[in-house]
Amino acid sequence: MRAVLSIGSNMQDRVEHLKSVFAEFQDEIVASSSVYSTPPWGDTDQDEFYNAIIIVEVDQTPLELLHRGQALEKAADRVRERHWGPRTLDVDIVEIEGFSSDTQELTVPHPHAAERGFVLIPWLAADVHATLGGKPVAGIIGNIPQDDIAGIKVLGRIEKL
Ligand code: AMP
Repeated sequence: MRAVLSIGSNMQDRVEHLKSVFAEFQDEIVASSSVYSTPPWGDTDQDEFYNAIIIVEVDQTPLELLHRGQALEKAADRVRERHWGPRTLDVDIVEIEGFSSDTQELTVPHPHAAERGFVLIPWLAADVHATLGGKPVAGIIGNIPQDDIAGIKVLGRIEKL
């Protein structure tokens, strides 16, 4: 099963938190983006997020993959003081090839992916042919307000940070 993961961190050692996901999936990653720095959304009085996209090919069910991501979040000692507040590590499943789900536990494709530049821009960088809901990600990015995209900056490949 091929899946697109969006990972983000804006607390403590952000690079280390992202690296824990790259390490967990090291033998299953088929493509990945550079790490991007993105302004916080929701509450804006917090550090910039570091975000990346990892595309994996796993021999697991969608829920098994979700739980694997949640174990990584837990291992990063995830702190949730506020709903839209800082987080040590967030692992979201953006899309799973040939699969959709609309439960509270797992909504795929991710319902907010189409509005989030910090998901779409790294995703396009990892896969120039990416589609979401049948539409090219390159085109969806064109619909996002310029203000939401302007602050998203590439930092470099995870190995170099
Ligand atoms: P959050 O705190 O925003 O990361 O949300 C975590 C909750 O969202 C967990 O209870 C997950 O079961 C649920 N969830 C639903 N859909 C997804 C998805 N596509 N990726 C990750 N978590 C999801």
